Formats: sequence, structure tokens, C-alpha cells
Amino acid sequence: MPHTVSYKNYEHHTGTRAQAMAPSKETAQALARAETICRAHGVRLTTIRRTVLEALYSSQKPLGAYELADLLASNARRMAPITVYRALDFLIEQGLAHRLASRNAYISTLHDDGSQEATAYLICDGCGTVEPASSAAFAGALSDLLSRADFEPRAKVLEVAGHCSRCQGHGHGRH
Ligand SMILES: [Zn+2]
Repeated sequence: MPHTVSYKNYEHHTGTRAQAMAPSKETAQALARAETICRAHGVRLTTIRRTVLEALYSSQKPLGAYELADLLASNARRMAPITVYRALDFLIEQGLAHRLASRNAYISTLHDDGSQEATAYLICDGCGTVEPASSAAFAGALSDLLSRADFEPRAKVLEVAGHCSRCQGHGHGRH
């Protein structure tokens, strides 16, 4: 598969995602891709799993499990946290979501075109922002590294902790 996802594209789309409640074309496309992945794995993307994935995908930021439950409560029936956790476990197992360990928050690994290219999450210790970053060169290098190690990744996600441009040189945002 060619590496066509650039950070620019990613950013362009994230700006418009959260506004619409009805699934956008991108969301529908990403969810269709998720269905295909699940079918290939011989598992079912149930309504609950799909709803949780859609919420993660539509969010502009990583979501904690409780945040996710609150969000879902506002536009659907309330889901018990255990239900949300089970759905998250499933999505992680299928490589459709990832838990950012340093934030204990969840993200969708699907891009707008339904691909799952490698993404580096730049996590600021100062202000807490999490910015996705990706490039063809990065994706290519990671694919190369993985194939040489004969390693099958569940999700191509890298977490990089540090300080964003705004927080650098300001006492690392602690003031
Ligand atoms: Zn920052």
C-alpha cells in the first residue's frame, strides 16, 4: 500500500471533524474500512463497538474512558463504563484504536481515507496537548524496520513525550 497520508492532510481534516453529529463522508469511509478489517479478522463490529470507534474517530483529541462514556451519553443511550472498556479492548485488539499509555486515553488509529499509516503522537508535558504527526518518510522507515524484524504491529503508533513549541523555554509550562 502506498504511503499517501501526510500530516497536512490529517490536520486539514481534524479541523472539521468534531462539528457534525451526522457521520461525515470521511467518518463513513473510515467506519466502512473498520468493518472490512473486522470481517477479515472474523469478528463483528457490533453497534456498541462501532459507536465507540466513531466517537474516538470524530474526537479531535485522545479521550479517557469516562470522557468517552459522557460523550456517548449526550447523543445516545448511556453506556456503562464496563461496556465502554470492553468495546475499547476489542478495538485495540483489532488495531482500530490505541491507548496512549502516558495519558491513559484512547485514540482511533484510522485515518480519513481508512488507512492506518504510522502516526507519532507528540505529547506535551507542559500543556497536555497531543498532536498527531505523520510523514511518508516516517511511515516508510517504520514499515522497513518492522519487516526486517519480522514483527507484526497491532497499531503503528509512537508516543513522543516532551514540550510543544509554545511550552519550550517557559519553564516548561509549569508556571
Ligand atoms: Zn505545550
